[in-house]
Amino acid sequence: MIAALGLAHEGFSVTIAGPVIRRDDGRTTALMLPALRILEQFGVGEEIKTKSAPLRVMRIVDATRRLIRSPIVTFRAAEIGEDAFGWNIPNNVLNSALEAAISAHAAIQWKQSHVAQWELSPGQALARLESGAAIAAQLAVAADGRLSPAREAAGIRVIRRVLPQAAVVLNFGHSRDHGFTSTEFHTETGPCTQVPLPGRHSSLVWVVKPEQADELVSLDDATLSMRIEDRVQSILGRVTVEPGRQIYPLSGALPARFAANRIALVGEAAHVFPPIGAQGLNLGIRDVADLIATAIRHRGDPGCDKSLAAYDSVRRPDILARTGAVSLLNASLLSDMIPAQMARSASLSVLGGFAPLRAFFMREGMRPGSGFRHMMSSLREQVRR
Ligand SMILES: Cc1cc2nc3c(=O)[nH]c(=O)nc-3n(C[C@H](O)[C@H](O)[C@H](O)COP(=O)(O)OP(=O)(O)OC[C@H]3O[C@@H](n4cnc5c(N)ncnc54)[C@H](O)[C@@H]3O)c2cc1C
Repeated sequence: MIAALGLAHEGFSVTIAGPVIRRDDGRTTALMLPALRILEQFGVGEEIKTKSAPLRVMRIVDATRRLIRSPIVTFRAAEIGEDAFGWNIPNNVLNSALEAAISAHAAIQWKQSHVAQWELSPGQALARLESGAAIAAQLAVAADGRLSPAREAAGIRVIRRVLPQAAVVLNFGHSRDHGFTSTEFHTETGPCTQVPLPGRHSSLVWVVKPEQADELVSLDDATLSMRIEDRVQSILGRVTVEPGRQIYPLSGALPARFAANRIALVGEAAHVFPPIGAQGLNLGIRDVADLIATAIRHRGDPGCDKSLAAYDSVRRPDILARTGAVSLLNASLLSDMIPAQMARSASLSVLGGFAPLRAFFMREGMRPGSGFRHMMSSLREQVRR
């Protein structure tokens, strides 16, 4: 939906092939300011903030019981001159806003049916839909998720990894204010992340072993509330779980290329990794922004080989860096090896104690390259003085 809006905004004629949006997704997504600014350019912005919460402080707490533990690291948006890093938005709110913007856009058609079959030729991509309709286009944007049938049709190989982890996702009320702080508790099974919602409410993504996830979602409300209160070290007072528990099995996937044969991959078709540090959709929105910039430069035929090669090379560093960093952090949590724990603890200790480095990572976390740009401009400023 984001790719469709962005391409239509730039004057391309767009057809979406896909199901009606899900209304039962209780998840929330933390979107950082650069991603929100991109959505604003496409006409989706202020209205989603009224049902979302700003993220002013982000904290990492080492909640492992290991010999080597890291100190608490706190990132404050004010340290880099921002009011918030981003906003935590309920997926239903974001999806509804995108759907409304699409319905209002004359250049977007929505065929509410799955693609049953792809026919790719040097001149065009042809999607045959389950409804019997067909769509021909110069460029097909594969936003069809981690299993991406379009990616398979394009013949792009994928390295996959099944992880011994599942995320339990739910929202909960609490008796103390969250102060617009998100806390990521690092545990031996993965992160357990609380993210603020409006009022005394938060969302939770608790990564555990798959069998523990089944056990947690089968608990009654009172017992599950107690377990969560215990896990988040009672920082928010009494916890009361809200209806709607979901389990997401975790996996990793990285394609060998990000575009080929008239198909460009965006979102989880292009990268899958565990939900640590709110990176997935933020990275997906950067895919879309780069794809649109490439399509504009090849307006005559945005799906030609030259355009797809340019998209592939522009996305590669960002996708590889994010996938590598998140996978490494996840692996260091799961690892029982002392050197891995020492490396994680040492990195977080340095980060916690050295403000300029923290500021660098905060900027890089929001937008790749912005930490380097800010560092270089500060150095230039100092040299001038
Ligand atoms: C628990 C959890 C928490 C997360 N939290 C965050 C966060 O805070 N911040 C963040 O940035 N990211 C977060 N993420 C990551 C984020 O959710 C994903 O990056 C994002 O959902 C990927 O979107 P997508 O559109 O690529 O894939 P999907 O959401 O999987 O959508 C794929 C779509 O393609 C459709 N489709 C499939 N096959 C076909 C076909 N043949 N024809 C047509 N359509 C088809 C599907 O029906 C589906 O609608 C989180 C992920 C999880 C699991």
